[in-house]
Amino acid sequence: MVVPRFWRERKSRYSLIGTKCPVCGTVYFPPRSVCPKCGRKSVGKMEEVQLSGKGKVYSYTIVHQNVIGYKYQKPYVMAIIETPEGPKLTGQIVDVDPEKVHIGMPVHAVFRRIAEDGKAGIIQYGYKFVPDEE
Ligand SMILES: [Zn+2]
Repeated sequence: MVVPRFWRERKSRYSLIGTKCPVCGTVYFPPRSVCPKCGRKSVGKMEEVQLSGKGKVYSYTIVHQNVIGYKYQKPYVMAIIETPEGPKLTGQIVDVDPEKVHIGMPVHAVFRRIAEDGKAGIIQYGYKFVPDEE
């Protein structure tokens, strides 16, 4: 059975499920069906793994513009989060003063409304990051 790409990605986006290559141990998020390092040896062997949602700020940008359709308060922080499992995740950091964000800051994923399509009324949810208690 072929799972449509949309549903695969939706599942992954909601639950932070990635895939792990059993040959070299590399974890991928979003999930990959083949490990680019191991190629043919990994075909059909990739394993689903649940990411913990924990991580540290690897890099970040303070964005001073609103995007149409996105209910971000400005300014907001977009960051690349380094996870203990390996993959780096890109997401918004919320519930924080942008000036307090720093490289190495511990954060964890939460699921929040990301965007709303006004005409269709479609609400997209996905992960964002909040700082760990300090
Ligand atoms: Zn591999």
